[in-house]
Amino acid sequence: MYINGSWASAAANAEFEVLNPATGAVIKSLPDGGGEAARAAIDAAAEAFKTWKATTPYQRAEFLMRAHALMMERQENLAKVMTAEQGKPLRAAMTEVKYAADFLSWFAEEGKRVYGEIIPSARADQRFYVLHQPVGVVAAITPWNYPISMITRKLGPALAAGCTVVLKPAEATPLTAIETFKIFEDAGFPPGVVNLVTGMDPKPIGEEFVSNPKVAKLTFTGSTAVGKMLAGQAAGNMKRVSCELGGHAPFIVLEDADPEHAAKGLQLVKFLNTGQACISPNRIFVHRNNLDGFLDTLTGRVAGMKAGNGMEKGVTIGPLVNEAAVAKVESQVRDAVAKGAKVLTGGERLTNGDLGQGHFFAPTVLTDVTPDMLIYREETFGPVAAIVPFDDNDDVLAMANDTNYGLAAYVYSQNLTQAMRLFEGLEFGIIGVNDINPASAAAPFGGRKDSGLGREGSREGISEYLETKVGGFSI
Ligand code: ADP
Repeated sequence: MYINGSWASAAANAEFEVLNPATGAVIKSLPDGGGEAARAAIDAAAEAFKTWKATTPYQRAEFLMRAHALMMERQENLAKVMTAEQGKPLRAAMTEVKYAADFLSWFAEEGKRVYGEIIPSARADQRFYVLHQPVGVVAAITPWNYPISMITRKLGPALAAGCTVVLKPAEATPLTAIETFKIFEDAGFPPGVVNLVTGMDPKPIGEEFVSNPKVAKLTFTGSTAVGKMLAGQAAGNMKRVSCELGGHAPFIVLEDADPEHAAKGLQLVKFLNTGQACISPNRIFVHRNNLDGFLDTLTGRVAGMKAGNGMEKGVTIGPLVNEAAVAKVESQVRDAVAKGAKVLTGGERLTNGDLGQGHFFAPTVLTDVTPDMLIYREETFGPVAAIVPFDDNDDVLAMANDTNYGLAAYVYSQNLTQAMRLFEGLEFGIIGVNDINPASAAAPFGGRKDSGLGREGSREGISEYLETKVGGFSI
């Protein structure tokens, strides 16, 4: 753990193990921190806030740009650590490190543009001045699927705004977090500005985050169930909250779309990170006139994917995070097949040879998926493309919106009017139109409904860490 500028062990030297999901091997043991460690980190962050908030955005940008440079210098090492504990292919891990570094440089600059306002008053003797100030100590909780970019997407804007931070990374992927904090240390951030608490049991740390009066803001990325619970507890103490939660993205291929282009896009985005992404397509609506062309291209490409240890050359899809994740995917596939879905490729666990030691499920294409199946409603977080054929463009918008989630959606169409109608009508925060990567440090990322509160990235991402103050001046 990294608290007040020093590396620390847990009380009574308690430890927990970090495992490699491709091999089942123990990689390392780490301090198993709890409420006490979280409290010490919050105290340090509160003390450091007194001076960090008074630095200029230009000074803060220098720290962030140094961290950016170190992250790019160490890209390959960070990627290797990530692949070992998370499983994604090394190339995908390299891409994620670059994406993570982008949040440091983008917000280093954006911090310089936290402008105030002067508002005309109805009274001749009065002036209104609006000022934005950092909220204070930020408690951040991040997930295991994107072990580095979810950290910088929160810490980049928080630090640029003048906040100090305590981070609890996911228990499955703390090693990437530790490497990231070595970067903050080497970039020279003053003691207490960034703090890291690791632990096997998130509950006592989370409880300290939502109840400690020194914490001003909680930012969380993870499951909807945990997000709702933490947001509820934080609300009791009137803390600011941002949540980026689950999704159930529709991927719509209209009649006028190019089915091959759409299938190529789907294969890339659906199987990214073994389907373990909140913006992963979960219901793929394909117009029946495009179905054959779409399925041919998709099934061929998916059948050609190579599952394995992400460290090995040629591997295009890694393991799932743990046994529970494999069991969930398996139960969704079994349920769909029992209710009439057809498996075009994949459909089962992979246990051949070395794969048997890890948590592998074959990349799968299911068609004839219907609304009575679990996979139509529940987030899969696994490598299964669930195809729902449809006949009428007028129905598909309502079908796509028929979910409690509202994070990402995708539309394939070559007709501008149709695409624009869907873009405007879809009740989701992020829409890819003939585009599978609608995310960037510069663009707002976040969802509606059960997918969360607030936005990360973009100028909206920094406003989540700022308070607004107005001054009425009588002259
Ligand atoms: P997932 O199902 O993706 O693992 P979780 O919501 O369980 O999603 O995990 C996301 C993050 O939330 C992780 O860092 C995890 O440790 C943390 N977390 C899970 N349960 C709690 C809790 N009760 N209090 C605080 N943090 C929690």
